[in-house]
Amino acid sequence: MDNKALLQKHNLKATPQRLEIMRILEDGGHVNIDDLYREIRKTFPSVSLSTIYKNMNKMIEKGFLSEVKLNNQKNLYELHKERHSHVVCTECKSIMDIQVNVLDVLHEAQNISHYELNESSLTFHGVCPRCLV
Ligand SMILES: [Zn+2]
Ligand SMILES: [Zn+2]
Repeated sequence: MDNKALLQKHNLKATPQRLEIMRILEDGGHVNIDDLYREIRKTFPSVSLSTIYKNMNKMIEKGFLSEVKLNNQKNLYELHKERHSHVVCTECKSIMDIQVNVLDVLHEAQNISHYELNESSLTFHGVCPRCLV
């Protein structure tokens, strides 16, 4: 499904700005708001940051854009893929998607807290192979 169809499927108009946001995220993988804003202004010089946020929040609400919250770093945004966790390099800030089974952890957290948990995010911090050498 292309991005236009994806927007329409979620009852969002496929506006040029939304499509551009999605293209930037597709290219960048994980993008913080500053880089996204800088990039989108190349195409839409007069767009405001609050308009961008509004558009992104709509897409987050619909569930096909996710916010990655990190310690000591600006939140990153990515187009939603399957559930995954992240590894982040503390040296170069590179970020990678990894698939680990977090269900056991979720169940354990639920058993301990007696909360009904429906969301989890797991981020590992360390040093990437490139920075290790
Ligand atoms: Zn690194
Ligand atoms: Zn990711």
